[in-house]
Amino acid sequence: MAHSEPLTVAQTLADVRTRLDRAAGLAGRQPNEIELIAISKTHPVEAIQPLLTAGHRSFGENRVQEAAEKWPALRDRYPDVRLHLVGQLQSNKARDAVALFDSIHAVDRPSLITALAAAMKAEDRRPDCFVQVNIGDEPQKGGCAIVDLGALLTRAREAGLPVAGLMAVPPADVEAAPYFALLAELARRHDVPGLSMGMSSDYETAAMLGATCVRVGTALFGGRG
Ligand SMILES: *Cc1c(COP(=O)(O)O)cnc(C)c1O
Repeated sequence: MAHSEPLTVAQTLADVRTRLDRAAGLAGRQPNEIELIAISKTHPVEAIQPLLTAGHRSFGENRVQEAAEKWPALRDRYPDVRLHLVGQLQSNKARDAVALFDSIHAVDRPSLITALAAAMKAEDRRPDCFVQVNIGDEPQKGGCAIVDLGALLTRAREAGLPVAGLMAVPPADVEAAPYFALLAELARRHDVPGLSMGMSSDYETAAMLGATCVRVGTALFGGRG
């Protein structure tokens, strides 16, 4: 094309999905084994709307407050939306999170497990829970230490949380693949089905290494300013 128009978000979505499916195929996996979560944090409803119009239904936010402002009205119109919380969760926001989200990707400490269990009882809602692992053992990152994972999973299961998988954000600026492989190994060892891993720069690698959901923001929406 002589003058290429900027891609619409729907075209970008189709491109990301194609890459994801190709990566899944290389690993002998089925495309429908991998949920593409569009991370819409910081982006306004006007940026989200075209994805909804294109039929996309899986979204993620990292702040309860921001999600509570953006999503209830959209969900009235698109009741089949699946909303994921991918950021750190304070225990005092557990009830709001349980009321709003279909899955929570940052379960990383006993006090939060207790708060979520109480919130699920109070709300009579049971979002899928992913236990976040500090896979690169980085002091500034959320997630439980690898050595604590077994005990935390036991605690989550005993508290009645629906444990759907493990989640991690590998260290920045190094090859992510070994960390994805390690997370997959931990999931096997602890008999956890889901793997939430892979972001804009590495979702294809994550798909090849067993991700069941990838969390993609920038590659879909552009930068967050
Ligand atoms: C923001 C965020 C993402 C998306 O990151 P991109 O690099 O923009 O794709 C994924 N996971 C978590 C936990 C995030 O906070």
